[in-house]
Amino acid sequence: MAHTDCAYCMIGENDELVGAFGIPVCDLPASRLILFKEQSHPGRCIVASKRHVDDISDLTEEESTAFMADVRHVAAALHKAFSPDKINFGAYGDTMHHLHFHLVPKYASDSFEFGDVFAMNPGRVTLTDGEYAELAKKIVDAL
Ligand SMILES: [Zn+2]
Repeated sequence: MAHTDCAYCMIGENDELVGAFGIPVCDLPASRLILFKEQSHPGRCIVASKRHVDDISDLTEEESTAFMADVRHVAAALHKAFSPDKINFGAYGDTMHHLHFHLVPKYASDSFEFGDVFAMNPGRVTLTDGEYAELAKKIVDAL
């Protein structure tokens, strides 16, 4: 069931909610891929379940397997597209009760947060619409 106040549920119907922090890129079998607007870590994105559930344990075994396959697929694409030294994964959802994973590429050459926990939104790096489109294309081409 779609929740009208949920940014992830409203993708395609009301992109203003997700637009506060992200840009929808494409649909995957069990999820939606969203480019995170704050790009301190180039390629940072979100994989959000297509189904509104609070926690991964609320998915069925099959749904969970499909969702994690999408996460794995996107991680592989990020490695291919950006060659990070490591990808950090974060599933918090303390205030956003719709299952989503943050995929945060980390680069040893960039001391910002390398070897540390990534901030939810450090508010350091925003790009132009053209630059976001370029990043999104790079990820999609690597999927
Ligand atoms: Zn939702």
